[in-house]
Amino acid sequence: MANKYVYYFGPDGTEGDASMKNTLGGKGANLAEMAKLGLPVPAGFTIACEFCSVYIAEGRQFPQSLRDEVAQALQKTEAAMGMTYGDPENPLLLSCRSGARQSMPGMMETVLNVGLCSKTIPGLIKKTGNERFVFDAYRRLIMMYSDVVMEKAEDIEPVEGNGIRVQLEHIMAKLKKSKKYASDTDMSADDLKKLCKKFKEKIAEVLGREFPDDSQEQLWGATGAVFKSWEGKRSVSYRKIEGIPGNWGTACNVQSMVFGNLGNTSATGVAFSRNPATGENKFYGEWLINAQGEDVVAGIRTPNPLNEETKNPQNQHLSSLQTEWPELYKQLDDNRSNLEKHYKDMQDIEFTIQEGKLYMLQCRNGKRTGTAALNMAMDMLNEGLIDEKTAVMRVQPAQLDELLHPIINPESEKNAQAFLTGLPAGPGGAVGQIVFTSVDAVAQARAGATVILVREETNPEDVEGMRAAEGILTARGGMTSHAALVARGWGKCCIVGAGDMKVDMAGRRLTVGEVKLKEGDVITLNGTKGRVYEGALEMMDATENPRFQGFMKLVDKCRTLGVRTNADTPEDAKIARDFGAEGIGLFRTEHMFYGAGSDEPLFKLRKMILSKTLEERKAALAELFPFVKQSVKGTLEAMDGLPVTIRLLDPPLHEFVPQDQAKQKELAASLGIKPAEVKKRGEALHETNPMMGHRGVRLGITYPEVTEMQVRAIFEAAAELKLSGKSPKPEIMVPVTCDASELDNTKVIVDRVHEEVKQQTGVDVQYLYGTMIEIPRACLLADKMAKTAQFFSFGTNDLTQMCFGFSRDDIGGFLNDYLEKNLLEADPFQTIDQAGVGQLIQMAVIKGRSTRGELKIGICGEQGGDPASVQFCFKSGLNYVSCSPYRVPIARLAAAQAALKAQK
Ligand code: PEP
Ligand code: MG
Repeated sequence: MANKYVYYFGPDGTEGDASMKNTLGGKGANLAEMAKLGLPVPAGFTIACEFCSVYIAEGRQFPQSLRDEVAQALQKTEAAMGMTYGDPENPLLLSCRSGARQSMPGMMETVLNVGLCSKTIPGLIKKTGNERFVFDAYRRLIMMYSDVVMEKAEDIEPVEGNGIRVQLEHIMAKLKKSKKYASDTDMSADDLKKLCKKFKEKIAEVLGREFPDDSQEQLWGATGAVFKSWEGKRSVSYRKIEGIPGNWGTACNVQSMVFGNLGNTSATGVAFSRNPATGENKFYGEWLINAQGEDVVAGIRTPNPLNEETKNPQNQHLSSLQTEWPELYKQLDDNRSNLEKHYKDMQDIEFTIQEGKLYMLQCRNGKRTGTAALNMAMDMLNEGLIDEKTAVMRVQPAQLDELLHPIINPESEKNAQAFLTGLPAGPGGAVGQIVFTSVDAVAQARAGATVILVREETNPEDVEGMRAAEGILTARGGMTSHAALVARGWGKCCIVGAGDMKVDMAGRRLTVGEVKLKEGDVITLNGTKGRVYEGALEMMDATENPRFQGFMKLVDKCRTLGVRTNADTPEDAKIARDFGAEGIGLFRTEHMFYGAGSDEPLFKLRKMILSKTLEERKAALAELFPFVKQSVKGTLEAMDGLPVTIRLLDPPLHEFVPQDQAKQKELAASLGIKPAEVKKRGEALHETNPMMGHRGVRLGITYPEVTEMQVRAIFEAAAELKLSGKSPKPEIMVPVTCDASELDNTKVIVDRVHEEVKQQTGVDVQYLYGTMIEIPRACLLADKMAKTAQFFSFGTNDLTQMCFGFSRDDIGGFLNDYLEKNLLEADPFQTIDQAGVGQLIQMAVIKGRSTRGELKIGICGEQGGDPASVQFCFKSGLNYVSCSPYRVPIARLAAAQAALKAQK
C-alpha cells in the first residue's frame, strides 16, 4: 500500500491532532486539534510534510496515489461544507497554505480563493447575490496565483521591483487614481470585472501563458507552488538562520474558504491570547472589516484594535471588535480561554467572520519577545496553568540575551524629543545608522557598523537585513505584520507602522514633517514605546528585574551542571557573580598586560622577554612579580569562597614585543642596550606559526623561572587572603599541553614553591592542579594526563582549531563560504562540532575518569556560553561550563533545560 499523505479535518472524522506536527506541520496539526475540540474550523485536509521531499525528488510531480487520496478528502470536505469544488451552481472555494513543523512566518506561500473560474463565477454570484465580492475575490486570486504559482514557482526572476504582482498592483493603482478612489473598497463590481480582464491580459503578455480557467488545474498548481516554496530563497535563508533542516519539508493545508470580505458584516483578524511584546495577560489583536486575512498582516490598512483596553495611539480612533460586535467578541474571547487552557501556552489565533458567523482559521503557540516569554512563564506559573519545570522550558536561552541587553537610559530619554512614533513591535533600545535596503544592512553590519533598517513596509524578503540590523523601523504594518513577528522571534528592537514617515527609496532619504534624514544618519529607537529619536541616546542595562531573578531561581533548582565565568579582573568577576557565576573557569593571566593601567606591568614583561641572560630575566621577573600577585589577589578576593582557575601565561611572547620606535628606545635604555639590539632580539622571537609555536606550557619548559614567579604570586596572594580571614580557592591550570610529562615537569616547580610559601607564611594553601585540554593528542592520552592533573578544562577554541586544522584567526576568510554552501551546519568556534571535536571531548572524559574517578571537568572555550554546546557538555558528563559574564544566565538556563530534557 502507498504511504498515507493526506489527512482530513472538519466537524466529523478529523484524522490528525496536535501531536502530529512532524507530519502535518504546525498549522495542520493545530487545525486538526481545534476541529477535534469542536471549535468552528472550516473543513479541509493536510498533505503531509513527508510528501514535500517526494514531490521535489519526483521532479515536481503528483503521483496518482496522491491524487486519489486528495479526491477522497475533498469529497469529505465538500460534504461537511455542503458545497462542491468546481460546481457551477454551488461552488466551494479553497485555500492552499504552507505550514512547516516550526513556524516560519511569511517565508512560504499561500494562495486563496482557489477554484474561481468562468464555470464557477456565475454560480457564486447567484448564491451570494454579491457580484462585487466575487470579482474582488477573483482579482485577489489572479494576483496571488500569478505571483506565487506562475512566476515564483516557475523560478522566473523578474527585475527587482518589477514582478508580475507589482505590475498588476500598478494597474490597480492607476484605476483607483483615475477614479479618485481612496481605498480598494471603493472599487465597484464593474471596475473589478474590468480589472480582472486587464490582469489576465497582462499575465499573458508578461509570462507568456494564459491564467488557468479550470478549477482542478488551479488546485494542483497552487498545491505544487506551496511545496516548491519550501525551496524558495526566503525560506532557505530563514531556515539557515533558524537552523531548520532542509529535509523537514512543508505541509500543504487545503481548506474551505470562508470570507471576511463579504461586506460589512464580515471581517478578518489576528489575535494573541496575551500581549506578545510585553507578556501582559490581555487579549491582544487586530482586525479589519470587509477584508481577507492577508490584508491584516500585509500592512496596507491600519487594522482596528480587538478591544478597548489594548488600544494604542495609532489605532485609538478606530472602533474595537468588542464595541462593534460584542456577541462575536465574547465568542472569540471564550475560544481564546479554551485554547489557552487546552494548550497551556499563549496562542496566536487567526479568525474570520463571515456574515456574522465566527470561524477559527488557525492557532499556534505565539512567537514572543524574551521579556514576554519570561513574564508569561512566571504569570502562567502563578495562575497554576503550568508547573515550575514547564516555566523553565518556556524561555529560550538566547531570549535571555534580550533581557540582558540595553535599553535607552530613561534619564536621557526624558530630555529627548521623539520626531516619530510607531507601534512598539520589538522591545529594548537600538542606536544605529540608517540603511534602506536589506543588502546594505548586511554589508554594513559585516563591515562593523551598527545599522537600523528603515523600510516603507514589511517584507519577508528582508530577513537577512533584519537579522543583521540592530533595529528595524517601518512606515506601515501592524503589530502582527511579518516584520514584527520575525523581529520579535529574534528579540530585535523593532518599530512598525510609523505612518508619518515618508521613505524615498531611490533617494535613500526619509522625511517626517520638517525632519529630513539620509542614509548613514544616526537614529535611536525605543522599541518598547515605539518612539524614534534623532542622534544617539545613551543606553543602559535592564537586569535589575525581580521577575528575572525569580525565574533564575527556578532555573537553578533544575540545574546540575555548574556555570562559571571567564574573567580576568575583579570588575568582571563581580558582574559575573551578580549574574550567578559559581566561580571562574578561566583567568587569563596575560590580560593584565592589555588595556587600561597595563603600561607598567607590560613594560616589565617586555624587559623580561628581551633579557638575554638568566640573571637579567630573573631581575625583570622580580619587578613583574608584585603586579602579577596584585592582579591574582584582586580577582581571588572578588570571587572569595568560589574556585578561581588561574591559567599560567599562554600566548607566544613575541606578541608583547613593542613595534614602535619610541617604546623600543625606552626599553633599550632600561636594559642598557641599543635600540637596534631590542629590534634584533624581538625579531629573533618571530615564529612562522605562533599558534603552534613557543606558547603555553612550552614557555615554562624553556623558562622555569617564569612559571615559578607566577606560581609564587598565586600562593602568596592566596596565603595573604587566608590570613585576612578570606577563603581563596585557587586552581592552577597549565595551558596547551600534549603530554603528561609536561604536567609532571611543571608540577615539580609548583610543589617546591608551594612548600616554600608554606614555610614563609605558615599557610598551607589548598589548591588544585590541572590542565587545559586543547590539543587532540591530549585527548588521546587523557588517561595519562589525569594521573597528574586533578582537573581538565577543555579549551575548545584551540581544540577546534587543531581538530579541524582551521586557524581560528583566519577563519573569516572562508567560514562564510562553508556556511553558505551548507558544508558546515554552524561555526564550530561558536557551537561545538559534536561530530568531530565532540568525539575528542567525550573520549577524554571517559579516559580521564578511568584514571581519576573524581576528575573535575569543565570547558572554557567560547562555546561554553552557547546553548547547544551547553547541552552537549551536560550530556558528556562535564562538571561545569565557563563563559563570559553576560552569557552566564544563558548558560544557566541552557543547563537547566538540558537536565529537564534528560529527565523526559
Ligand atoms: C581555548 O583555547 O579554548 C581557550 C580558552 O584558550 P585561549 O582562547 O586563550 O587560547
Ligand atoms: Mg587556548
